[in-house]
Amino acid sequence: MLTSCSGGKEKVLLDNFPQDIHKAQIEIVSSLSGNQSITSEGSVLNARATVQERELSRAYLVELLTQLSIEPNEQHYRQKNSNPLVDILVGPFKGTNIYGILPATLQTDQYIILGAHYDTARHCPGANDNASSIALLYGVAKRLSELKTRKYNILIVFFDQEEEELIGSKAFVRYIRKKKYTIHSAHTFDQIGWDKDKDRAIELELPSIELEEVYKVQGIRRGIPIYTTKVNSTDHQSFRDIGINAVGITEEYVNKDTSPFKDTPKDTFETINFQYLESTTNLVYEVIKTIVSKNIKDE
Ligand SMILES: [Zn+2]
Repeated sequence: MLTSCSGGKEKVLLDNFPQDIHKAQIEIVSSLSGNQSITSEGSVLNARATVQERELSRAYLVELLTQLSIEPNEQHYRQKNSNPLVDILVGPFKGTNIYGILPATLQTDQYIILGAHYDTARHCPGANDNASSIALLYGVAKRLSELKTRKYNILIVFFDQEEEELIGSKAFVRYIRKKKYTIHSAHTFDQIGWDKDKDRAIELELPSIELEEVYKVQGIRRGIPIYTTKVNSTDHQSFRDIGINAVGITEEYVNKDTSPFKDTPKDTFETINFQYLESTTNLVYEVIKTIVSKNIKDE
């Protein structure tokens, strides 16, 4: 129920935002950040940093994709530790990315990747970093799935181990290269739940000219300021490293309007601005809709 999972505080719905997605986004952030139990048996997460916590999170993400009628897949990987001594003592990194494909409605072998990491720093509930982006992806995917026409396949991916030097997204990039997927663009999301000054601004990290343009057009249309930065320290970097057209989307770091609770036990459900999350969900949906609809004449 809306009131119980919002801690008694009423969350205000953005005008015209779909009610079902509003409720789902609250539930997603609440479940992943330990504000409510994540399983029917009553398990509650403290963080998503240990093997067990990440496993519980994955089971939930698999269920989310299933709810969207997208078949969930697991990509398991191992990665040697760059420090040989650590590698001998604790062994290689092991992790699992979760992904699913919303197929194009037209014949194509091209993919748009929409991704967000699901792990957190230790002892951090990670409501903003990065349950907020998982909720965003759910909302965007739900609305894209309702489109009559999609020119590209849309691959939704939840990365493991971003907090361990982007190991999860790097492993995913190797995987898609092996599968020889042709990628139109990769959009990765990291922290989209804080907007103290209420201007709804977002930042684009290292967008190509083409991607910057499509985001800015939608920003202008909605009165949303869009800043561009050269920050490369999150998952989009893994894609750019092999020449994929990639962009990172985050909250307004340039004007310091970003959560002060990053990587701390205070990154909790109560701090999330759901109106901002909804505003950004709408914006990203319109951006991807524009890309997948481009040059298609309506009947
Ligand atoms: Zn993050």
